[in-house]
Amino acid sequence: MSHPTPDVYEQGKGMDAHNQVMREIRSRKEASYDPHEPTRVWLDEDNTPNGVKRSLTIILNTGGCRWARAGGCTMCGYVAESVDGGSVSHEALMDQIDVCLAHEAENGDEPAELIKIYTSGSFLDEREVGAESRRAIADTFADRERMVVESLPDFVDREKIADFTRHGVDTDVAIGLETATDRVRHDCVNKYFDFADFEAACAEAAAADEEAAGDADAGIKAYLLMKPPFLTESEAVADMISSVERCAAVEGCHTVSMNPCNVQRYTMVDDLYFEDGYRPPWLWSVAHVLRETVDVDAIVVSDPVGHGSDRGPHNCQECDDLVQKAIKDFDLRQDPSVFEQVSCDCELTWEAVMERERSFNQPLTR
Ligand code: SF4
Ligand SMILES: [Zn+2]
Repeated sequence: MSHPTPDVYEQGKGMDAHNQVMREIRSRKEASYDPHEPTRVWLDEDNTPNGVKRSLTIILNTGGCRWARAGGCTMCGYVAESVDGGSVSHEALMDQIDVCLAHEAENGDEPAELIKIYTSGSFLDEREVGAESRRAIADTFADRERMVVESLPDFVDREKIADFTRHGVDTDVAIGLETATDRVRHDCVNKYFDFADFEAACAEAAAADEEAAGDADAGIKAYLLMKPPFLTESEAVADMISSVERCAAVEGCHTVSMNPCNVQRYTMVDDLYFEDGYRPPWLWSVAHVLRETVDVDAIVVSDPVGHGSDRGPHNCQECDDLVQKAIKDFDLRQDPSVFEQVSCDCELTWEAVMERERSFNQPLTR
């Protein structure tokens, strides 16, 4: 792949030290990918403000996130999947969409009601997906009920959202906020923007929603990261509870997807993991946060990736599948009683970790 380098946009955000480390780590990856194939595509079902819908999830290969090229987030290995040269043509992007439609036709009984497009970056960044491609993709899915597109908050504006809502398609922008705490986002995740930028993006979505009148809804789905590096289990849990509450209180944000960190290759988290400096969160922590935030005014879901493995969120191996299943049940029903039906001896270990784990402090003096 092309070597990550900062350009004007990415410099001067006060984060050059983490970025320098992340650029070195990412440059160890040597691989390139076909710009005519999506990174991944699959069928599933999802909880939306209008109930549970059949979904088609697409990870478009767009050349990758510009922040990742500068160095980027400490847990994110996605840029490792992007293409050589850093940009993908309109024709190639549309070829990727055709591959996804063929996958849907082959594997689904009917067209999915919900289309989710992730890009390992920002769908609304015109350097990744130009206006022509954005509008053509909006036209392709004009007959669906709902779209979700992923973007950093800087690129969210009401006109871009209107490309979708003008077809009468409810539209959500998924924003990788990671946490509502600026200090944790900057210093643990190495993500440059502030909570205020997220609030501004929510305001753009609310304005798009108003402009679409009754024809379509527009809103924000916030993605949170449970347990970035450098936090203890209990700090991570406290950070998630307050983050879910703060996101749910912002107008325009109707869904919070709180996802436990997993150890991806070619990331700082991966380096820490090999030095015994990182453990992914317990699934008990995920269940605890979901239970504690059940009264907020938003849908709160979690989709633990790689559950039960050392590099993913896990408990003791015995109970991982059961707790994961309870979390998935909660996602669809929002009913905290699903967690009453699971228990395991390792809950006691988790409680001890929550109580006793302390951050690592290198003493300055003897
Ligand atoms: S998490 Fe998002 S913003 Fe951060 S490097 Fe990855 S794709 Fe870019
Ligand atoms: Zn257990």
